[in-house]
Amino acid sequence: MLDDLFDYLEHIRERPVWQPIPHEVRAAFDEPLPQRATELAVVHEAFMHKVLPYAVGNAHPGFMGWVHGGGTAVGMLAEMVAGGLNANVGGRDQMPVEVERQIVRWMRDLFGFPEGASGVFVTGTSMANLIGLLVARTSVLGEGARKEGLGSEGQRLLAYASAGSHASIAQALDLCGLGTDRLRLVPLNERLEMDIGALRQRLAADWAAGYRPFFIAATAGSVDVGAIDDLGALADIARAQGLWLHVDGACGALGMLAPDIAPRLTGIERADSIAFDFHKWGQVPYDAGFVLVRDGELHGRTFAAQAAYLRRDARGLAGGSPWPCDFGPDLSRGFRALKAWFTIKTYGAQQLGAMISGTCELAQYLKRRIEATPQLELAAPVSLNIVCFRHRGAHSDVLNAEIAAELQESGICAPSTTAIHGRLAIRAAIVNHRTTMDDIDALVAATLKVGAGVGRKHGGRGNISAAVPEPAWRPCPEPPSRGKP
Ligand SMILES: *Cc1c(COP(=O)(O)O)cnc(C)c1O
Repeated sequence: MLDDLFDYLEHIRERPVWQPIPHEVRAAFDEPLPQRATELAVVHEAFMHKVLPYAVGNAHPGFMGWVHGGGTAVGMLAEMVAGGLNANVGGRDQMPVEVERQIVRWMRDLFGFPEGASGVFVTGTSMANLIGLLVARTSVLGEGARKEGLGSEGQRLLAYASAGSHASIAQALDLCGLGTDRLRLVPLNERLEMDIGALRQRLAADWAAGYRPFFIAATAGSVDVGAIDDLGALADIARAQGLWLHVDGACGALGMLAPDIAPRLTGIERADSIAFDFHKWGQVPYDAGFVLVRDGELHGRTFAAQAAYLRRDARGLAGGSPWPCDFGPDLSRGFRALKAWFTIKTYGAQQLGAMISGTCELAQYLKRRIEATPQLELAAPVSLNIVCFRHRGAHSDVLNAEIAAELQESGICAPSTTAIHGRLAIRAAIVNHRTTMDDIDALVAATLKVGAGVGRKHGGRGNISAAVPEPAWRPCPEPPSRGKP
């Protein structure tokens, strides 16, 4: 099984990035509960032929859809030994908990957080954003809210994030009981970052109306275009007005490892909490989200529970408190920290930082290729490792969506789509360490080929269709680079 996976990674370029799942393959996974044993080798065969070829393909260098990390063989081996050990890292006095604490200390240093800061592995940034919001809730309402609910003071709370923030921020407001109406989506500036002037105005109006603003979710690397909010300005506002500053750094926070990107994250060291993913830019296999909280004591008071069967002791297995389960809703939890530890130790922070810089350089290379290609146009500024563009021959959202789908089905490359200022764009997020200039060239060549075909098929016309969902944000000025290749 190991050999097969080494072969898979070694020869991944010879495979299609993705391919549609044949009906009979899908149907093979609709069988009754097996009553009798099957040889391991037979089960493995089924995996090799029916699962492996039809995965998302994010390990492939041509995969540029959404924001997916590529993983490494080192991470795979770490998963194997973690699986063999089968540690439950919810708590107790064991070295796996110390491995997680080592990562917490490293992240504390990386982000300039104080010694009292806490951190915990979670599934992903969606969960990490929710945890940041819940700790902020404790800071403003006190621990009483855990027992009594949000109460009348809770009715006045308001949170703020940019119109380009990830949907998991709004979801966190939903899940914590405040409701998504309590999230003010602040308009974007021309770089698609939160408009700081608009935020100030909104805050002033909300305070004057008797609301209690309490939470700003800054975005460090927006999911659509990789835009980084002005973290220093947001930290100033948060301090002056007594607000919690949370940073959604799922996409961008690990840019701290890259000397050329870290300065653009200045201000992140003043955040109250940071959420990010080792499984994206960190190349750690899924899943490996993380939340770092400046005030570890407050973090513990938000989640720690009293249960007789979770009693802590000064000695024996029940020692070593506080436990990871005191910092989030998970009790039983796997050894996610091990694959992050193996990855960081094996490659070292410098090499990881160089890999991160490399993905941004590739994005700039793609930007230049688009600017030099008359049939293509940029749809948004290129801030980090994400490039949004359109085919000019495809005059509508529908046709650009069709191009993206045909590229995915071609097996050559797999960009995804998003909406920029209400118009669909093809979006290439360069997150995978395996991606090279050749893959960028292949994306451009395939887009031109597919685009010409799609244009012909639709007679070079097309209608703006309602098939593309309305953007969640208000329109704002076009970015300066759009339409000037
Ligand atoms: C990916 C992403 C998330 C969600 O993270 P998951 O790990 O998928 O839960 C949140 N915010 C941003 C900016 C993202 O890119």
